[in-house]
Amino acid sequence: MDILSKIKSLSKACVADVTAHRHHLHRHPELSFQEHKTARFVAEQLRALGLQPQEGVAGTGVVALIEGRNPGSRVVGLRADMDALPIQEANEVPYRSQVPGVMHACGHDVHTSSLLGTARILTQLREEFEGTVKLVFQPAEEKAPGGASLMIKEGVLENPRPAGMLGQHVATNVPVGKIGFREGMYMASTDELYLTVKGKGGHGAMPDQLIDPVLMASHIIVALQQIISRHRKPANPSVLSFGRFIADGVTNVIPNEVTIQGTWRCMDEEWREEGLRKMKKMAEGMADAMGGSCDFEIVKGYPFLKNHPELTRRTRAAAVAYMGAENVMDLDLWMAGEDFAFYSQVVDSCFYRLGTRNEARGIVSGVHTPTFDIDEAALEVGPGLMSWLAIQELTQH
Ligand SMILES: [Zn+2]
Ligand SMILES: [Zn+2]
Repeated sequence: MDILSKIKSLSKACVADVTAHRHHLHRHPELSFQEHKTARFVAEQLRALGLQPQEGVAGTGVVALIEGRNPGSRVVGLRADMDALPIQEANEVPYRSQVPGVMHACGHDVHTSSLLGTARILTQLREEFEGTVKLVFQPAEEKAPGGASLMIKEGVLENPRPAGMLGQHVATNVPVGKIGFREGMYMASTDELYLTVKGKGGHGAMPDQLIDPVLMASHIIVALQQIISRHRKPANPSVLSFGRFIADGVTNVIPNEVTIQGTWRCMDEEWREEGLRKMKKMAEGMADAMGGSCDFEIVKGYPFLKNHPELTRRTRAAAVAYMGAENVMDLDLWMAGEDFAFYSQVVDSCFYRLGTRNEARGIVSGVHTPTFDIDEAALEVGPGLMSWLAIQELTQH
């Protein structure tokens, strides 16, 4: 039997367990940086496969190596995130979350159970590939500073250093049975902006005696959008959105200050910093020119996620061989953030999408909603595909 057929049959053989693992994780979700039971469960499963997991990386992270023949020749890393979200599940399913107010609403239970399935497949194929597969189960994708950044600080990309990292994420806009890829820029950096525009409040009938922070803040909001329209290279996708603008006065009372909160997203690390510098300068300068002041606070989030072009092309071609060209799609840019981006800033990386949507069965809710769920036929695809992609990446070199 060729390796592809072997993977497909091993994948069929483990789908019941992968599904059971997903249900277990879904019933017992844990918030970011609190994935203690989840990590213990993952480590137990890995030990049952004869692996020697390293636990406690960045708190609750788990790392394990699967060595094939000639293990030093090349290393590929496979990543799954393990954390859930503070959302009350609204689905009436047998595997419904048993933790009030906490739910696997971003599919990280799927990623974790799928990577355990991949581990099971690959441990049975050690004689069939050269090199080493590094399994990375990480905490806290959903919460700054991101489990990925902490695991990298603790050396997850060293000893041995992966030549490439692969990560998969469920996609509620990709039909089940299909996979999506995008080369190059894929997801955005995410920074939070907190502005406090300060003036001098008082009676609305006597604006000449005041320094109106409402008008200042309004000018600043409009001016900051010019950074996008006038300073951004048209080829640099960027989003600047403000969702909070609080001027807590009344009809005839102007407040002392206005608070504004927004998000800055782009796909170019240099432009990200330049944009932030320009925004801060403009906001502070405008407030100053109008007689007030502006505190411009930046809380840095994740970098942008770049899918390494050659790795992504090779991985996409391997996916076509596994699933057929009709089941491999190209993805659009996506201005959301993802902490897998930290790996992509350090080693060649490819983050692809596992289709989980099934319109006929009404499985259409987006991630981060109380009705999010997947068509579990995706669990027949995820583990085998990732095994195949890893082996292809090890043996094509
Ligand atoms: Zn999420
Ligand atoms: Zn996610």
